[in-house]
Amino acid sequence: MTYTKLKLGQTIGIVGGGQLGKMMAQSAQERGFKVAVLDPDDTCPARYVSQHFIHAPYNDAEALQQLGAVSDVITYEFENISGEELAKITSQFNVPQGAETVVTLQNRLAEKNALKGGGAAVVPFVSVTDQDELKKAADTLGFPFMLKTTFGGYDGKGQLVISSAEDFKAADELLAARPCVAEQRINLKSEISITATASSDGSVVFFPVQENEHRSQILYKTIVTGRHAHEEAAINEVKKIMAAIRFIGTFTVEFFIDQADVLYVNEIAPRPHNSGHYSIEACDYSQFDTHILAVAGWQLPERIELLKPAVMFNLLGQDLDVMEDEFASRPDWHVHVYGKAVRKENRKMGHVTILDLDNDYEAIYKERM
Ligand code: ADP
Ligand code: MG
Repeated sequence: MTYTKLKLGQTIGIVGGGQLGKMMAQSAQERGFKVAVLDPDDTCPARYVSQHFIHAPYNDAEALQQLGAVSDVITYEFENISGEELAKITSQFNVPQGAETVVTLQNRLAEKNALKGGGAAVVPFVSVTDQDELKKAADTLGFPFMLKTTFGGYDGKGQLVISSAEDFKAADELLAARPCVAEQRINLKSEISITATASSDGSVVFFPVQENEHRSQILYKTIVTGRHAHEEAAINEVKKIMAAIRFIGTFTVEFFIDQADVLYVNEIAPRPHNSGHYSIEACDYSQFDTHILAVAGWQLPERIELLKPAVMFNLLGQDLDVMEDEFASRPDWHVHVYGKAVRKENRKMGHVTILDLDNDYEAIYKERM
């Protein structure tokens, strides 16, 4: 397999056409590349900013061959692709990210084992396949703990808080999709993340530390000041992780900080991440730009500059309902609406980035919700 340096007019194939695929495609097109997108939803956001659209399930072998045939490089916007199919196209086409990293990170247990093996600071965890092991997990971890499915969870889906033995019964549904991971529940002081981009020539750039606030386990707000007390420790953890897991392109490491100010690695996304969206306006390169540079085999910038401190708010279906009337008169709010056909509660429909930490967005939002 050879990694090609893409020429202007060549095509980047993206598996997945959601908002991440859309913003990748926009960045690719700015640089003069063409884009091909594969997605099961024929109204997906990336479709309208791409030259080629392949309407098929993510794991459709024939469709992936079709994507390979029209693309000069293939990347993906999410991690739940079949490892088997990804390995197949990796052996045939230019897929600089490979299959192995995705296969590890799409499985919470494999991910945590890789993190632990690499010496990263992970929250104590055990594998749980049935009620017996759930009881043992309670003895090992103590209450409260989290039970999470190993595959397919996002935005808090596939997770349960186990506060006492009374909650064991409620775990049956999750345990049906065994194995699960039980992990200590951290009494959170805060959550942060770091986005980085790695290139196949070995260079790496780090975006500034992002402070994240979740509501109902969905990212609500990201604040980036350019300084954070845990920055050095977090970058150290990322370096340990990079020694254990091979990354090409943009990825994000999420961290927990507990009440005693101890930092833990939560999870890794091997792709651009919601908490990095502010970089579109606030940094000299966005997380999508650096991703495209890396997969195109172009050189990364030496460092990422934060041009202004920024705050990003997600726009879920219900948020868009109450905020959209404001947009026309708020040029200071950088509004992104992804163009999803159906607006739903808790579905990520867009986001707003504001380059001023001292702003009135939240006051208006709270008044309306
Ligand atoms: P995903 O983002 O894949 O849905 P996460 O494991 O990142 O899953 O969990 C989502 C959010 O739930 C976290 O960002 C955090 O706010 C909360 N959470 C998850 N695990 C824990 C834990 N062990 N202790 C405290 N809070 C947690
Ligand atoms: Mg998460």
